[in-house]
Amino acid sequence: MNVDVEASSKQHGQLQQMLWEISQTEKSTVLPDASSLAHARASLPNSLDGNGIGFESTRRHVLEDIVPAFNNSSISPRYYGFVTGGVTPAALFADSIVSAYDQNVQVHLSEHSISTDVEFTALGLLADFLRLGRDWQNGTFTTGATASNILGLACGREYVLRSALGRNRETSMGSVGESGLFETMQAAGLSGLQILSTMPHSSLVKAAGILGIGRANVKDVSSNNDPLRFNLELIEIELQRSDKATIIAVSCGEVNTGYFATGGLDEMRELRRLCDTYGAWLHVDGAFGIFGRILPEDPEFNVINQGCKGIELADSLAGDGHKMLNVPYDCGFFLSRHQGEAANAFRNANAAYLTGGSSQAQLVPSPLNIGIENSRRFRALPVYASLLAYGSTGYQIMLQKQIRLARSIAEWLFEHPEYNVLPKAENKQGLLERTYIVVLFSAKDEDLNRHLAAKINETSKMFVSGTSWQGRSACRIAISNWRVQEDEDFAIVREVLASVATKA
Ligand SMILES: *Cc1c(COP(=O)(O)O)cnc(C)c1O
Repeated sequence: MNVDVEASSKQHGQLQQMLWEISQTEKSTVLPDASSLAHARASLPNSLDGNGIGFESTRRHVLEDIVPAFNNSSISPRYYGFVTGGVTPAALFADSIVSAYDQNVQVHLSEHSISTDVEFTALGLLADFLRLGRDWQNGTFTTGATASNILGLACGREYVLRSALGRNRETSMGSVGESGLFETMQAAGLSGLQILSTMPHSSLVKAAGILGIGRANVKDVSSNNDPLRFNLELIEIELQRSDKATIIAVSCGEVNTGYFATGGLDEMRELRRLCDTYGAWLHVDGAFGIFGRILPEDPEFNVINQGCKGIELADSLAGDGHKMLNVPYDCGFFLSRHQGEAANAFRNANAAYLTGGSSQAQLVPSPLNIGIENSRRFRALPVYASLLAYGSTGYQIMLQKQIRLARSIAEWLFEHPEYNVLPKAENKQGLLERTYIVVLFSAKDEDLNRHLAAKINETSKMFVSGTSWQGRSACRIAISNWRVQEDEDFAIVREVLASVATKA
């Protein structure tokens, strides 16, 4: 076997240094050039070399052939496509430790490792950070908000069917996880489950498909004049149905616009009251929007403050670490006010060898009974390290810069003769107040608009994603990197967008 452990570990030290340097070097381009991509593609082997090519050759291949063909979506502050965030120095450090020590976080074994204690503590720190209160310290770290939405809807499915069974008390039926969805539904006398939402993220609809709720049973309950805001009367009519159990899902940060589905504490209180009255579950998809809760109460952020108010009244929350928290992929989190609900769905039953230690240790739950995996990476450590290092204040400063940059861009586009900012705003002040970290826009000229994203991205100075808005192509700028420099980045964005518009 071609493994020289001693040489490898020496190289490991050099590699750590190199990783650090990579992460600290700001890149001026966001996409790899075509020749790097072609070269990398041609370098991929057609079959496995059974003897191995050795570590040194592999290292050279990865660094010289493959790495130049990566994009800089996390390293450049001007990648505005998906909300990828970046990687803070503290998170990079912690993530390297996670790989080197390779802790498997599955069962809380208090005498074997501190890792599950750290995860549980990190959940508590997140609850503090998001100003949710410590009754929210139930949950786990996931692969992302998609998995967290699956967890939230699975908990909701348990809860709403249990309340429906409670109304039909001849049965001793347990949970869906135990008895099965079909059996539980029959015992409850229901024909299905439904999810009421406004502009849900595609992953929430996917979660409904995975959980046997059905993508078709995610229903729009928006008001007539705004597709993101709730029609509370319509919600109550749906909740009164005797044939369906209901989960309400709040889009706390809609992915295209960055806007919020709710507009203040009163609205969240009303949703809570409706859920309590009808035995429904209130889930929040706050993948990137929930971080609005760390902002100061200040007129500058009033609309965002209001959009994040009352989220603590919900039952469950999906959030992303690899977005605004700027920890590396993959990292999401799921938090809930209901201790033990997740175990109804995710209990890893009948595995005596996987039980935890002493009863005192049971204060820290075993992740394998809360989430999807039985074995997984120690995802909490980068979150823990980054929260400790920068605190709420550090993240507040990062987020304020991101929001101010987004607003500068929105204002410039609003005033530019060639561009529209979307959704159409009546006045500039209203537009800027609503802008969080996303700017959606299109070109007025039809021809330019069709190729707008491609033209912008061709410059490789910034990257936007192409999307569509009300049937017409549009571009989306999503700002999420801790490296944002308001003035420098704004100047580059202006230069690129102005030059693209003149060449039309
Ligand atoms: C990104 C996003 C998701 C999906 O998150 P992943 O981390 O990609 O799984 C879900 N909901 C919203 C609102 C998002 O922005």
